[in-house]
Amino acid sequence: MPQRPCIKCGGPTPNPTRCEPCRRAYERGRSKQRGRREEYAGGWRHHSQQLRIEWITIHGYQCPGWTMPNYPGHGPHPATDLVVDHDLGVLCRSCNSSKAATHDKERKRTTPPASNGTPN
Ligand SMILES: [Zn+2]
Ligand SMILES: [Zn+2]
Repeated sequence: MPQRPCIKCGGPTPNPTRCEPCRRAYERGRSKQRGRREEYAGGWRHHSQQLRIEWITIHGYQCPGWTMPNYPGHGPHPATDLVVDHDLGVLCRSCNSSKAATHDKERKRTTPPASNGTPN
């Protein structure tokens, strides 16, 4: 079998790119990069800034508004105080808080309502 020089150390190898030890070291380095767990935990803030910038680049200073079943919500409108929420996406501060409040109500609704007496 023709041997080629390893692209890393230059030693002869039947592998197309790296010799066996270099390949293993390379793979180990890659899997280390893949397990960047801290970035997932601590990166949200940075990530949300990115999302915000992307949003403004594409849509300008515009709040998309929000709707939910059984709620009037808000239509799209211009807004400079855009925030990015984990669940809610890009919204202006006021829409974000009203939608978040609605969200919470929706969540509470799934628990059965306490029967504190509506007399019939
Ligand atoms: Zn090598
Ligand atoms: Zn809004």
